[in-house]
Amino acid sequence: MREKYLMIWPKSKEVTHINYHFSQFGEYIAYLEKRFPNQILYRDGDIHGEFGYQERREILDLIKEENIGKVVLQITYENAGEAKDLIEEIKSNYPSIAIMGYGTIPRLYPELLKELPIDVLASLGHDQRCIETFLSKYEILGQSEKLPGIKVKNKDTNEFMDASNGLYIENYEWTSTPLKLSRAYYEENNHARYVLNVSTGCPFQCEHCLLQLTEGRRERRRTIDSIDESLSTLHHEFPYVEFFAANLTLDQQYVLDLCEMMKKKHSDIHWGCATRIDEVTRKKSGNLIMDDSELLKVMSDAGCTLIGLGVEGVTGNLNSIHTKDFVFEKTDQAIRNIQDANITAKAMIMVRIPNQTRQDIINTFYYLTKMNTFIRPTLYTPYHKIDQNNISLYDLYRYNRKKRPDDLESPVIGISNNQFDELLKCPSHYTEILNCTEEELALAENITNTKCQKVLVK
Ligand code: SF4
Repeated sequence: MREKYLMIWPKSKEVTHINYHFSQFGEYIAYLEKRFPNQILYRDGDIHGEFGYQERREILDLIKEENIGKVVLQITYENAGEAKDLIEEIKSNYPSIAIMGYGTIPRLYPELLKELPIDVLASLGHDQRCIETFLSKYEILGQSEKLPGIKVKNKDTNEFMDASNGLYIENYEWTSTPLKLSRAYYEENNHARYVLNVSTGCPFQCEHCLLQLTEGRRERRRTIDSIDESLSTLHHEFPYVEFFAANLTLDQQYVLDLCEMMKKKHSDIHWGCATRIDEVTRKKSGNLIMDDSELLKVMSDAGCTLIGLGVEGVTGNLNSIHTKDFVFEKTDQAIRNIQDANITAKAMIMVRIPNQTRQDIINTFYYLTKMNTFIRPTLYTPYHKIDQNNISLYDLYRYNRKKRPDDLESPVIGISNNQFDELLKCPSHYTEILNCTEEELALAENITNTKCQKVLVK
């Protein structure tokens, strides 16, 4: 009997981005099922039922029953504790099983995994390709040779060897695996939203972003036919679909083709996407087919109801976040362009950006609330700057986007973890949550009005 491989998404204590989780995990499984037919099994700790698991014992039993030869786990900030326990339990029960980790922690903090009984880490290139290399080549070449995309542990020194190079996938192919996982979650949680990945890779190089390492700088997009095919299988279960791309509007022709198809074939579906501020404010020139403000109207006409923007903040020094010198005026123009097209603007903002003041944060909430945007706050967390020699896996696990333990707190501004939690739940109540004074609000009005007027005068 051919050995089987088990993909595990370990249970997360606090799940962020749950919608993306299923589409990403589903895409990986779908890719591998095509390359290793009838050999891939999977379990996701965040769902119940056929593809879920609740107790680690279920994973150990499955390994025995199904003759599992290799295990692959996703390890990120949210599930690092569970992943660590799983790896230790699997190895102590089945020492001959080879284990690979992929995700944020193996990519950014390999040092923290040295003492764990794990054999291989994803390093460079698409996770799917890294896992494929592990499943097909590890015994043949592993342990002594460098392999593409993965870091193999040298058992004598416990050091991981560097990968030889990275490998990337060229085409998305539609399969229903992501849909199966999303359904299993949504049936329990009554959350009718489906995320479909439509692009991978990003040409920008924001310092804090892992995408350049995992997906490369060249954008690759799912074909319009593949999107059509995938939406046809939804059977009206998900009236809202998010097209997940780092910057959907980067390629205007693609968006126009998508809109044409949506109008013709899926006019009952409302959809949303995310993009960058500088890709909804361009004017027709060079390769651009039209002004972005016109493109947004075409999108609205084709069912687009929500666009997310990485606003981060409207005043203060944002250079540590944005790759370009973003200015408030551009953010303002982006939001107005989106709203003029009758689309809701969702502003992703960050608090505790280095050098950000309390007044900067109040300015941001003041302006975005006045503009009627959805606000989604995130704590700025400089993961990419953490010294892995001075942090434990446990501390990193606690150091996630929502909470920062006091001992890791940076002395930036007066916003407590509790206040941040309240802002997440109800950003429009920021004045009460932050106990804003009249002077602070008057200053916010003055600063943002002055800047808005500058835009209108232009
Ligand atoms: S634009 Fe977005 S996806 Fe691209 S590098 Fe910057 S943060 Fe990452």
